[in-house]
Order: sequence, then structure tokens, then C-alpha cells
Amino acid sequence: MTPIEFRRHIHANPELSFEEYNTATFIENSLAQCGIETYRIAGTGVIAKIEGLGDTKRAVVLRADIDALPIVEATALEYASKKHGVMHACGHDMHAAILFGTLQRLAEKRDFNGTIFGVFQPGEELVPGGASKVLAEGPFEGYDVVAVIANHVDSTLEVGEIGLCNGAFMASNDELRFRVTGRGGHGAMREKIDDSVAAAANIVVKANKLNDSKTVLSIGKIVADGATNIIPDSVYMEGTMRTFDGTRRERVWSELESIVKDVDANWGTKTELIISHGYPTVTNNIALTQVARVLAQESFKAVELSKRYTAEDFGFFTEVYPSVFYRLGVGSSSGASHTDSFAPDERAIDVGIDFMTALTYRV
Ligand SMILES: [Zn+2]
Ligand SMILES: [Zn+2]
Repeated sequence: MTPIEFRRHIHANPELSFEEYNTATFIENSLAQCGIETYRIAGTGVIAKIEGLGDTKRAVVLRADIDALPIVEATALEYASKKHGVMHACGHDMHAAILFGTLQRLAEKRDFNGTIFGVFQPGEELVPGGASKVLAEGPFEGYDVVAVIANHVDSTLEVGEIGLCNGAFMASNDELRFRVTGRGGHGAMREKIDDSVAAAANIVVKANKLNDSKTVLSIGKIVADGATNIIPDSVYMEGTMRTFDGTRRERVWSELESIVKDVDANWGTKTELIISHGYPTVTNNIALTQVARVLAQESFKAVELSKRYTAEDFGFFTEVYPSVFYRLGVGSSSGASHTDSFAPDERAIDVGIDFMTALTYRV
């Protein structure tokens, strides 16, 4: 099977996060046909293992995500989604095909140093993220993982371009939810109420001061269902906090707790704050990024990228192992990801395989 056939099969048969049952079976069967050993991980994930030369405890991990999105596809491609309302609109079908093609090539020669793991990871699009579930099973215990490598398609780059960024590349993301409860009542009888609306407004103003050059914090929803003369019993709010700095991230969590405590003390309210932890920052190892950059400069086209406030569960890998995450150009004609018309240029699959294979030999 060619990587393009592999990609088209996955594209036509998309599955949502943590429901990649048929996808996983298809990946297992396709790899078995190439004589590559696999085992299941995190329910609907697949790990391929290929041993090469020398110390087989030295490991390089190649990772692709495999989940699709709840979108009705409108591309009219001959291999468009056969499942109404589910679509590979983030290019994870491309990532899976690139990993498949890379493993095919590596398995042909088996002349690399150590062991290669290929991780077909489920559930990238849904918190808590498949990466955390994969790592929780300790699949690389006993191995010296020298590099974890992954890519993501990018329609702001042309086919042939590789986008790189040193250090912190993608932000951590946490969801914030507040329920401010007071004593509701007549808006004109201030002495008989504990004003949940005023308290909530104070929380918003104070929380916004936590924004800085590495951190964004936004409250996007406030529900205070009172009236001109009615203060409601409670106000509900939610928002997002993203940062490129793990220490800063934890400090913002505790600063939010103190803001809520102070406001409650001043306004007589009681606020429940729930912080749902999303993905950690994707932090590229500087030395590995440099290896990738030199390779891209020599044989491809290297493009320097700036930080992105979007998140990726690959951050879980970067917390534990030296890692590099790069962007792979699919061209502007591919359209925007996470839309119903996203159709990445398949020429990028060969570029992706060439790059990932060459990089595997160099790390
Ligand atoms: Zn996505
Ligand atoms: Zn994605």
C-alpha cells in the first residue's frame, strides 16, 4: 500500500477522538503487511516498533495523531468522508500517512542506530489528549529516548517548506470556569444583597491584569440573568488562559485563586473556581531543532516561525523527552484547517516522509 492510498482510506473513514477503533485496526493491518510489529496503546492508539543496529535501547520516537473532527465535509473529493458529520479537517490523516511511509522506508533497510517507535496517537483534539494517555502507559520505559519527532500540516507554508521554532512554540491551554454566588434581591436594596454581578465584574478586571507578553487570559462568557432592578443569586463565567511558560502557568492558577478569595471577602460572595488543565506548552529542544533546521536548509526550505497561542497535546511528550515539532507546508490552496473545505496538497506527503526519514537518521 502506498502512503497516499493509506491516507485516502483514513480520510474516507474518519473517526472522532478516542473512537479510532477501525483506524487503529487499519493501521495495524497495513503495518503487518510491511512486516512491522505493532501493539495497542491507550485503547485506540497503535505503536509500531522497528529494531535497527547497535544499542537497541537507544530509541527515537516518531509520532502522528490519528483523530478527526466533528465537521460535515464539503470538499467533493473522490475520497471524501463516508461518515456524515466526521471529517479529517486538521490533516491528521496526512500525519498518519507520513508516519506510515517513514516506517515503511525504515523497515526496508533497518540500518539506523537503535530502535524506532512509531506512535499513531489517538485523541489529539480532545482534552485530556491522547498523548497523556499514551505516556501514562509508560511505553518507552527502559529505553533511552533521544528524540521524539512530530509534524503538523500548515497551509500558511508552501509545499516543500518546513517551519521551525526554537524553544517554546505552542502555548499551554487551561479552561477557566467561575460560579460567583451571592445573596440576590432588589437592586435598590443594597444592604440586603451580596452583589454577585459586581463581584464577577471585579474578578474579570483583576484577572485581565494577569495578561503579559507570554500569557493570554480572556473571559469569553458571563451569564448574569438578573434585570434592571434584580441582582441574581449567581453569575457564571468562563474563559481561557494560555502561556508559553510552565512556571508562569502555575503562578496564574494560584493568582486566580487569590483574586477570587479577595473579591469574595470584599463582596460577601462565594466563588467556585474550576481550572481544567489542558495541554502543556510545546517546547522544542534547541539542539534537535537545530538538527532539523540544518536538514531543512540543505535539502528542503527552512522557514522560521514565531510562537503560536494554539495548543497541541504533543506538549506532553516535550515535557518528558527531548522533542521537536515542526510544521509541514501544504500550500495556501489547501484552505484553512478545521473548516469543511480543508484539502491538504498530497504532494506534501512525500516531502513529509523524506524529511522525517532523513531526520530520524540524523538525531
Ligand atoms: Zn486540530
Ligand atoms: Zn491537528
